[in-house]
Amino acid sequence: MSRFFSKSLESLAPYTPGEQPKASGLVKLNTNENPYGPGPKVGAVLREQTAELLRLYPDPECSELVAAIETYYNLSDGQVMVGNGSDEILGFAFLAFTDVDKKIVFPDTSYGFYPVFGRVFKAACETVPLKADLTIDPSDYYQAGGTVVIANPNAPTGIGLTREQIRGILDNNRDNLVIIDEAYVDFGAESCVPLIGDYENLLVIQTFSKSRSLAGCRVGFALGNKELIADLNRIKYSFNPYNLDRLAIRIATAAINDKEYFEATTREIMDTRDWFGLEMAKRGFGCLPSQANFVFAKHVGVNGKSSGKMSGKAYFEALRTKNILVRYFDKPGIDDYVRITIGTKAEMEQLLAATDVILEEANPTL
Ligand SMILES: *Cc1c(COP(=O)(O)O)cnc(C)c1O
Repeated sequence: MSRFFSKSLESLAPYTPGEQPKASGLVKLNTNENPYGPGPKVGAVLREQTAELLRLYPDPECSELVAAIETYYNLSDGQVMVGNGSDEILGFAFLAFTDVDKKIVFPDTSYGFYPVFGRVFKAACETVPLKADLTIDPSDYYQAGGTVVIANPNAPTGIGLTREQIRGILDNNRDNLVIIDEAYVDFGAESCVPLIGDYENLLVIQTFSKSRSLAGCRVGFALGNKELIADLNRIKYSFNPYNLDRLAIRIATAAINDKEYFEATTREIMDTRDWFGLEMAKRGFGCLPSQANFVFAKHVGVNGKSSGKMSGKAYFEALRTKNILVRYFDKPGIDDYVRITIGTKAEMEQLLAATDVILEEANPTL
């Protein structure tokens, strides 16, 4: 740290992104990317472009993309804004809706960026423990006394709340904003977008990175009532008015307009996930009930014997030696688990075969 760095940010601990390996040939199941890649309509848009596209500044309102999202969700003008990944929108939201004396409340086990945003934007943070089964108890967030942020489904557990449970949180926080981060909602959970008309205290945030296979393009969006969206735009125009480049606007518009490809690929991922959970159970792993494109799995023993149990860290490291990347969080309460992104069926078969070898090597007698 240089002697010029802000004193008030000295203790800032940045977010640690999952590894993006330089080497090829790895089975990459560590950052919840979509194995199927962008659809044919995105490919067509890319092929049409020339370098001339990049001469002018982009449309700061991203009107073409915003209109496509409004149409997709049947929302009206002014209820959507887009950002450079949903991380940027979350950042805008933390700036707009928290303060030193306006706290932010979120689960103690959730997306690792929330506490970092809290720190960098100098918001008072309050974390709420998950229940022993790693679920969220909605009533823990009633009368929260500050802005609530909940990932639904939660990360890294994959467990979702129902729309009715979130309605309960909204009903019991009439004077608090409730932000629902729906990064994984398209993999089987209930979206809160249909509640936007009923609740002026609801802001929904989604991303093109997971279900729409555009992690490398950096596009996320917020949906809510006009005043909330205007607040976010106020921050955006004070910070980075051209937050999406011209290519990203076109690509994301093509992606949201390709409903057919989106539905086929998300269905495939959900089917693979459900099959994979059963295969892992045969190998002595328990997976939390996931509504996301990953599972949170821990080894509970072999053939009913807990003596053969493998720790999360040992399993993570053993997979790494077999060129399979998953995510491990060295954090009390979840350090028995690894988070495994759902890839293609062939990738999951590779992981299962490697797991068989790892278990055999660890317990040759079982
Ligand atoms: C992946 C993820 C995001 C961020 O996605 P972007 O790539 O920045 O759009 C936000 N919230 C959660 C819970 C995520 O897992």
